[in-house]
Amino acid sequence: MSSPRILGPRILILGGTTEASALARALAGHVPVVLSLAGLTRHPRAQPVPVRTGGFGGVAGLAAHLRDSDTTILVDATHPFAATMSRHARDAAAMVPGVTLIVVRRPPWQHQPGDRWTDCTSIEAAAAALGSVPRRVLLTVGQKELAPFAARPEHSYIVRSVDLPPLAALPGAELIAATGPFTLADELALLRRHRVELLVSKNSGGSATAAKLAAARQLGLPVLMAARPDPEPPYAAPNLASDVDDALALIEAHAGTLLGV
Ligand code: NAP
Repeated sequence: MSSPRILGPRILILGGTTEASALARALAGHVPVVLSLAGLTRHPRAQPVPVRTGGFGGVAGLAAHLRDSDTTILVDATHPFAATMSRHARDAAAMVPGVTLIVVRRPPWQHQPGDRWTDCTSIEAAAAALGSVPRRVLLTVGQKELAPFAARPEHSYIVRSVDLPPLAALPGAELIAATGPFTLADELALLRRHRVELLVSKNSGGSATAAKLAAARQLGLPVLMAARPDPEPPYAAPNLASDVDDALALIEAHAGTLLGV
């Protein structure tokens, strides 16, 4: 005898962000929720919901997973620079009848008076914009994005990332493993201690890592700001939330529809 299909919402959150973890916390105990992580972080935080780890095997793999797990709501709460996973989420959700896609996308940071930002179209463009005068550069672009800077060895780099990159990724760099949120005091101390002259950042948005920008503003330091990957659907998805509260409201509305309330 086949087991009965569970009615009501079953939620899969694609995570790796503070928003995904906050959603998992808010939903835990109320509806069946699984959080999916890529598995890149060596010591992921404990989560209050079941966690599955590792890629799905592309769009077809994710679609099969959605079917097999009877998922009804797929929440793409990945990082704004995780463009491949977001595309896969959009395409897989479209392939599986009965799956609603909700996208959580925090707004990008905006220039403020006193900022000395140069907008760059990509990390590669930011590396190209460093100039030839040797400088002490703080990189907060993630450990996978260091190659363009290895090609600019005239600069001295301080790399801060969640996990330490391999030493060979950027020879001679000073490496700092740290996980946000960071305070303004933390960031001022970091910039002063390492005599940073310039910052390179992704325009990730959100509050957890925004203090470095306030610290740069206060110290009058320039920032090379790499733009997000090209906007394309699902960034224009109808179920687009800019924060966790928005996402919960959308989930509640869809769960209510599924339950007929
Ligand atoms: P990506 O380039 O968009 O995705 C590469 C592949 O990793 C995907 O095709 C997928 O493999 C797998 N993957 C990504 N996110 C996954 C998830 N939540 N669950 C299961 N598999 C996942 O992603 P990325 O930029 O390497 O980011 C990887 C993870 O780190 C994401 O969860 C993201 O939210 C988080 N993160 C990224 C950044 C960043 O700057 N990129 C910053 C902070 C956190 P399959 O095709 O095999 O399914």
